[in-house]
Amino acid sequence: MSTTTSSIGTPNSSTRTKILLLGSGELGKEVALEAQRLGVEVVACDRYASAPAMQVAHRHHVFPMLDAEKLREVIESEKPDFIVPEIEAIATDTLLALEAEGHHVIPTARAARLTMDREGIRRLAAEELGLRTSPYRFAANKAEFDAAVAEIGMPCVVKPVMSSSGKGQSTIHGPDDIDAAWTIALEGTRGTGGRVIVEGFVDFDYEITLLTVRHVGGTSFCEPVGHRQVGGDYHESWQPQPMSAKALETAQSMAAKVTEALGGRGMFGVEFFCKGDEVWFSEISPRPHDTGMVTMITQDLSEFALHVRAILGLPIPNIATHGPGASHVVLAEGDSDQIRFHVDPSALEAPDTALRLFGKPEVRGHRRLGVGLARGADTDEARRKAEAVAKSVRVELG
Ligand code: AMP
Repeated sequence: MSTTTSSIGTPNSSTRTKILLLGSGELGKEVALEAQRLGVEVVACDRYASAPAMQVAHRHHVFPMLDAEKLREVIESEKPDFIVPEIEAIATDTLLALEAEGHHVIPTARAARLTMDREGIRRLAAEELGLRTSPYRFAANKAEFDAAVAEIGMPCVVKPVMSSSGKGQSTIHGPDDIDAAWTIALEGTRGTGGRVIVEGFVDFDYEITLLTVRHVGGTSFCEPVGHRQVGGDYHESWQPQPMSAKALETAQSMAAKVTEALGGRGMFGVEFFCKGDEVWFSEISPRPHDTGMVTMITQDLSEFALHVRAILGLPIPNIATHGPGASHVVLAEGDSDQIRFHVDPSALEAPDTALRLFGKPEVRGHRRLGVGLARGADTDEARRKAEAVAKSVRVELG
C-alpha cells in the first residue's frame, strides 16, 4: 500500500505540476498526451521546431539537447517538477549537476548518464551486475579495432558507442568486412570521437523488449514484446512473444537487477536476445521504447501511460491486456518538408486496427513517420494486419 498522497496542480496556474520533456519525438508525444490527461503541464524541448511532442505540449523550447548551457538555462527558467528525457543524446553531466541541486530527473540523472552511450550500461550490466551479455571489446582507433575483432572472432557486430537506430552498425562475417565496418561505424557515430563496441554475434532465436516499470508500489513487467529489426532499426513488434517459463523468469530477474541499479521511477525498455532457455542482456533505455508502441493497442495502460503514472507516484496495481497485438512502422525516404499521407482505407476497415501519424515536419533520408497497430486472434494475424495498415499509407514527398 502506498502511504504518500500525490498532488497534481492545474496547468497555467501557480499550482501547476510541470513535466519538461528532453526530446520531442513520437514517444515523447505519447508521454505528453498521457501527462495532459492527468492535467500536467507539459513543456517540450527538441533541436527542431514543430517536433511531434511540441504539437501537443503547453509550450516548447528549440535547442540542441547536447548544449549544456542552454539546457541549464531552460531548466532554471522553467523549474519543472520532473525532467523527463526522451532521447539518449543529452548533456547528461548537466543533468547530474541539476539533480544534485535538487531537480528531479526521470528515472535518475545517473541512469540517463549511463545509458547515454553503450559503454556505461554494458560495463554496469556485465561487469558490475554480472548479467550475461555477448562478449565485447571497446576500441578507440583502427589498431585497437583490429585487435578487438581478432579477440572476439567472427561473426561479430560493430556499433559506434554513441549511436542508436542502427546508425553506424554492421556485421563482420569475414576478413573482407573488417575495414568497411570501421568506416561505417565512424560515419554513423553521433558527436565526436570514434569509439566503437565490437560484440560477439549472438545467434538468437528471437529478441524481446521487456517493458519494466518501477513505480511507487514496486516493479511490474509488461508481457514480453517480440520485435524484428532491419539494419539495427525497429520495423515491427508484437506482444506477447511466446517464451519458455525459464527464459521469461531469467529475463525478468535480469531486468529487475538492472533497473534496480539505475533506480528512480518510470518505464524502462530492457532488450534481450533469447535462444531456447538462454537469455542475453543487450541494452536498456530508461524510458518508453519504440518497440513498445504496440502497447498502445494491446494494453489498457500503454507504456506511456505507465511511465506517467510511475513518474507522478500513482499506483500501478495491474497491467490489463486486450489480447495479442502488433505494430509496424510507416517509413519514408527522401528529402522534403512537404509531406502528405494517402491512406487506402481497406486495411483500417479490418476490426481492431489503428494508425498513428507522428506529424513530423520533414524527412531527410530515412525517417519513421507513423505506425500501424492491430490486434488479432494471435500475434501472426496481428502482425499481418498491422503491416497491412502501415502499407496502406502512401507517403507523398512534395
Ligand atoms: P542495438 O542498437 O544494440 O539494439 O542493436 C540493434 C539490433 O541489431 C538488435 O536489436 C539486434 O537485432 C541486432 N544486434 C545487435 N547486437 C547483436 C549481437 N551481438 N548479435 C546479434 N545481433 C545483434
